[in-house]
Amino acid sequence: MTITTQLQAAKPLDDALRARAGKVIPSGMYGHMNVTLLPSGYPQFYVAGKGTRLWDTDGNEYLDFMCSFGPMISGHANSVVDDAAIAQQKDGDALGGPTPRMVELAELMVDTVEHADWAMFAKNGTDATSLAVTIARAATGRKKLLKGGTAYHGANAWFNPNPLGSTPEDRANIINFEFNDLASLESAAAEADGDVAAIILSPFRHDAPVSTDQFDVDPAFAQGVRALADRLGAVLIMDEVRTGFRLHTGGAWEPLGIHPDLTAFSKAMANGYAISSVVGTDALREAAGDIFATGSFWYAGVSMAAAIANIGLLKATDTPAQMAHVGQLLRDGLRSQAESHGFTIFQSGPPVMPFLRFEDDANFATAALFTDAAVRRGVLLHPAHNWFLSTAHTEKDVAWALDRTEDAFAETRATLG
Ligand code: PMP
Repeated sequence: MTITTQLQAAKPLDDALRARAGKVIPSGMYGHMNVTLLPSGYPQFYVAGKGTRLWDTDGNEYLDFMCSFGPMISGHANSVVDDAAIAQQKDGDALGGPTPRMVELAELMVDTVEHADWAMFAKNGTDATSLAVTIARAATGRKKLLKGGTAYHGANAWFNPNPLGSTPEDRANIINFEFNDLASLESAAAEADGDVAAIILSPFRHDAPVSTDQFDVDPAFAQGVRALADRLGAVLIMDEVRTGFRLHTGGAWEPLGIHPDLTAFSKAMANGYAISSVVGTDALREAAGDIFATGSFWYAGVSMAAAIANIGLLKATDTPAQMAHVGQLLRDGLRSQAESHGFTIFQSGPPVMPFLRFEDDANFATAALFTDAAVRRGVLLHPAHNWFLSTAHTEKDVAWALDRTEDAFAETRATLG
């Protein structure tokens, strides 16, 4: 076999920054951005992005299939979004109170998301899911939350998968169920014994990093969830922090005709500017107004101006379909490359949020070899988390990536024998 693509050089500037970070930043870097959890080929620091490309501190270029873990839906440094943000920045960001952008954005969210009658804004996905839970508890006067066992809904004390630093009491009101398993949802509800404030779930199962595939929602399960929430008088919270605007612009379960009561959005709302939103129905308007919800930066205008511009771009064309087409090309190419190198891979979830798993690779060791070989050739993937497509990705990008993943598969095969 011939390996033809160029490998990237060493990363001395990245190494030097890591050494400095090790002295002043806990663990050198924390959370999902800590690349010491990834194979050694990944850079820790980046200096620029444009469209589908990223550059690290050492000048290496990457074709980015992570989109900053989701936010960059319209491509890095999108000029329409950035121009709107810069125009607002010139007038000010955090002023004496909200700018008119807040009303305009709330109107846009209500106009865009089918079940939304009102909108609130915060900064991170965790803010939005936490707010949704608070509204549900305020509205119902109940405590318990039913959630998918390994689903991630944020890094607060209730949802954080790492229990270090939280108390059992923080999690005492969470009861787990299995996604797509109505019997397990019913038994979680029975355990809650009339005290269910909310059912919280994502529109499809995307619990990575866990060693199982993503899977679509079974429409019968979705209907069952809605019916159970109604029967219990509980709030149905849809966590679209990761999926928002990539599956269906008006809400992920719209094609099924199922409306949640509250939806949390964040990542892709403003193409990289910090914002999140909870939208809800009229029935929950009063509770949403009665809770004390606030944050020093929640009303700031720049990210709202960016969100208005970005959602405008996304609504102008059928972006989910466009991203799905390009994502499918990537998926088809990877499948035939893997086969030709004797690998069985499983690619799951929608093509706009692809997840690739190798057979018998529970600890992602083969995925680590493959993604390391890819990143050293300039294709930024992740071994254990779903990837993300943006509207900037083209068929040409996919062809460029596949030239390199061909060699990444070859190298992985050569390493494993
Ligand atoms: N919900 C889901 C489904 C997520 O994927 C995430 C972030 N990965 C969150 C909530 C939390 O968002 P944030 O990291 O912005 O707080």
